[in-house]
Amino acid sequence: MFDKHSYRSWEPQISPRLRVQHKATRHDQRSHNLRLVLQCILGAGSISRADIARTTGLTPATISQLVAELESDGFVTELGTGPSAGGKPPTLYGVNAGARSIVAVDLSDSERVGSVLDLKGTSSYRTIRSRQSVQGQEGIDQLVDTIDDLMGETPAPVLGIGIGTPGVVDDEGTVVEASYLDWHDVPLGALLSDRYSLPVYVINNSRAAALAEYSFGDHEAENLLVLKIGNGIGAGVLLDGRVHGGEDSAAGEIGHVVVDPKGIPCHCGKSGCLETMAAVPRLVEVCAPFLPNQAGGLEDLRDAGAAAAAGDQQILSIIEETADNLGRVLSTTVAILDIHRVVISGIVSALGDPFLDSLRSAIDRAVLPTLASKLELCYGRTGDRAVRMGAAANVVSQELGVV
Ligand SMILES: [Zn+2]
Repeated sequence: MFDKHSYRSWEPQISPRLRVQHKATRHDQRSHNLRLVLQCILGAGSISRADIARTTGLTPATISQLVAELESDGFVTELGTGPSAGGKPPTLYGVNAGARSIVAVDLSDSERVGSVLDLKGTSSYRTIRSRQSVQGQEGIDQLVDTIDDLMGETPAPVLGIGIGTPGVVDDEGTVVEASYLDWHDVPLGALLSDRYSLPVYVINNSRAAALAEYSFGDHEAENLLVLKIGNGIGAGVLLDGRVHGGEDSAAGEIGHVVVDPKGIPCHCGKSGCLETMAAVPRLVEVCAPFLPNQAGGLEDLRDAGAAAAAGDQQILSIIEETADNLGRVLSTTVAILDIHRVVISGIVSALGDPFLDSLRSAIDRAVLPTLASKLELCYGRTGDRAVRMGAAANVVSQELGVV
């Protein structure tokens, strides 16, 4: 339905808020108008053709044609009639979220979680493939197994596959460097696209989390810094509502900024990276001796959160030290970008308010009062679904131009 070359020339627009700023050329006019109308209907929830014409500035005849096309492709459906303005009551249209399925997989942590989602990010099926970290070719095989499983559970034609992975991913979907998975120059997008004959979009996991928070988190902010802390650490940055990828698609890779050159060796080859000092495996390791159960992994993290909330001084001082190291790197980013809203995403949220409070204090100590006073720090609102929702949002954005 949509002209591939046309939409590819666009920057992703992932907000349900209506804002098409690109002036279309003659070549991509039709795709542009389809996207404009679909975005308008999605943003409104339910809307008449006359109101679409008023909002978009397109002629009623063009709107009728485009709505009919979207309806015949299943993307748009009639929702009934609206109040009459004197004549015949207008037919109202809405987006049919179930018209297409999206398969999304989160490779962030040792749990490889996949979901089948609809066009509005609602999940209908979820699978967990492994609770152990799997690397290299074995990791690719396991991802394929996960996708095979998900493809058998799609209730509608599949729009595309979205993968959220740690590391640096280029625009072609090649994982340039993901030391956590031991992937180096793996053309993951091309491999999966060949296998499934579907569009495949691979995105950095922190960036996916940022997309999810922007699209579904109801933050009402056009600039957002999402710090994802799980087995690794990375940041996703949205500036003026658009993902900032950087010159080489590596923006936000703050987990491997060296904080202590004499610190612990990191899997990236350096020593004392932020990840070695503040990611979840390290937190669990240093908290465990003070925890009664020592169950390992996420459970230990939850226990540490409970102990901190109960005022356990040893756990609180570990949290403070961790927040201090994070705050040192994060405050520089905040100062450079002048971003007011920082969202903490990932399994670290199990530490609850004491962690957030410590991080807030660490940033307050490190930046100008004028920056600190406007800074809002919160946990993500999309929870442990963030990366999958963001990877799916990326597919919808790239394929249809909307989320
Ligand atoms: Zn490193």
